Amino acid sequence: MSQNKYCPICDSQELQIVTIAETFTNRAGEEIKMDNYEYTLCSECDLEFVTAKQARHNEEEYAKGSPR
Ligand SMILES: [Zn+2]
Repeated sequence: MSQNKYCPICDSQELQIVTIAETFTNRAGEEIKMDNYEYTLCSECDLEFVTAKQARHNEEEYAKGSPR
């Protein structure tokens, strides 16, 4: 998807993109369900982190999500 991705902890390039359904609670206490929350998982040190690109993606998904 995108180049030059390294784990910020161990500099590994063994990174997996993980997409999951995730539910967040917003400031109003409402649950926001996201079908495609995306993050990166380092296979070396198991760090989970969100890249800037994924953060934007997640913001869009979050905006699409509706309170249930
Ligand atoms: Zn790592």
